[in-house]
Amino acid sequence: MKVLSVASECAPFVKTGGLADVVGALPAALAGQGIDMRLILPAYAQARGLPADGQAVHRQADLYGGRVTVRRARAEGIDMYLVEAPHLYDRDGTIYLGPGGRDWPDNPERFVALCRMAVALCEGADVDWRPDILHAHDWQGGFAPHLARKAQAPVGSVMTIHNVAFSGTFDADRIEPLGLDPADFRVEGFEFWGGVSALKAGLVGADRITTVSPTYARELTTPHFGMGFDGLLSARADVLTGILNGVDLDAWDPAADPDAPNFDTPAGKPAATAALRADFDLPDSDGPLAVVVSRLTTQKGLDLLPDALPDFLQAGGQLALLGSGDADLERQWRQLGAAHAGVGVRIGYDEVQAHRLIAGGEAVLVPSRFEPCGLTQLYGLRYGTIPVVARTGGLADTVIDANDAALKAGVATGIVHAPDDTADLAFALSRLVTLRGQRQIWAQLQANAMSHPVGWEVQAAQYADLYRSLGPST
Ligand code: ADP
Repeated sequence: MKVLSVASECAPFVKTGGLADVVGALPAALAGQGIDMRLILPAYAQARGLPADGQAVHRQADLYGGRVTVRRARAEGIDMYLVEAPHLYDRDGTIYLGPGGRDWPDNPERFVALCRMAVALCEGADVDWRPDILHAHDWQGGFAPHLARKAQAPVGSVMTIHNVAFSGTFDADRIEPLGLDPADFRVEGFEFWGGVSALKAGLVGADRITTVSPTYARELTTPHFGMGFDGLLSARADVLTGILNGVDLDAWDPAADPDAPNFDTPAGKPAATAALRADFDLPDSDGPLAVVVSRLTTQKGLDLLPDALPDFLQAGGQLALLGSGDADLERQWRQLGAAHAGVGVRIGYDEVQAHRLIAGGEAVLVPSRFEPCGLTQLYGLRYGTIPVVARTGGLADTVIDANDAALKAGVATGIVHAPDDTADLAFALSRLVTLRGQRQIWAQLQANAMSHPVGWEVQAAQYADLYRSLGPST
């Protein structure tokens, strides 16, 4: 079965968050299930390591002000179609944001163009490879299922929500310049609270909808988490499922991580912890060294953490944080790092540092207000870095709280607290200090965490079942 994945980012070539990790890991994970997955991706100036000399399979002389060429490419074991459109993708800034940190004004054109090229492939643009299934990721892929349905392309379609907070909304006056059908500007189409939402186009147009954890799938049907899509997702609950993300076990392997001291049992972790303390200029301490690797946003609860820290620091706990994002939060965390000997802060985006933090940390904190799946708690499990997480979305599905019953049953893997609740977060940190002080229990927790399966095996089978349920040429 052939599946075309439509996404705006893919690790290791171009990444701003977990979406890239998942999109990059799926082809290899699914190959074991007999699924031939290819990816269609914009040929951004920012992408690294992509060959530019593949065979052209499709050309369009003028799409939104310039020429577009779709070329085959293969790198890092991933088969791709690269969409070359210098007028859309070849520019400074980030892949989503221009100068001043604002969305590129032509983001609708940039990603509708990507979706149009995906649909061309569904219609047979590459004579050697035509997909049976179109799998769109997040709003950037949203128009693909919609346009495929309009074109009656012979594919089944899946729309995956990695984060509903990003709806890809723009003004209705863009409908005509984008070449979309004004008749679809209605509640049953891509209209969304008076504007146009690319994500909604996908959620309405796709045969199946998935998101990245079972709990988030349920949460999405509620007003609090659904962010305006709860009504639609409730109505389509019969085709909505949650499939957890997995971890690339080669890229995140404590026994063979090129970026940090290696260990394959918890007994080997102290060397990585010592190296991390040295990296972050943190003094020796008997208390636990916690880490955060995250976008700095209120979604991630990183505005709550400062108020939960004083007692933890007082008890000898320490924190090393790597993150970037919201300017106010960056400033606040820089100040905290300067004010406390036990808090080390690096503002920036740095893959190597991320590995060093996950390897050296004794606990990884993920105090999100909402979290579709979350990846750093999964890395934490693999590295015996005990996750301390909010009870929401994929965090709730992947971490088992160290309460008495779970400890007795030998299944506990972390500490779970109420989301959006500073007092409970502070209590979770006090539990971390206590558990860390109980040598045997802590060792058991680490062992449980490290043996918790976090790979793709189970989930790959779930995706394969989903694709097969749509069958070729549904
Ligand atoms: P989201 O996609 O919402 O940002 P996830 O937990 O799903 O959150 O994925 C985040 C990914 O980005 C992880 O692979 C994490 O290691 C990485 N990451 C986040 N912030 C940084 C950073 N500052 N430096 C390096 N990697 C980061």
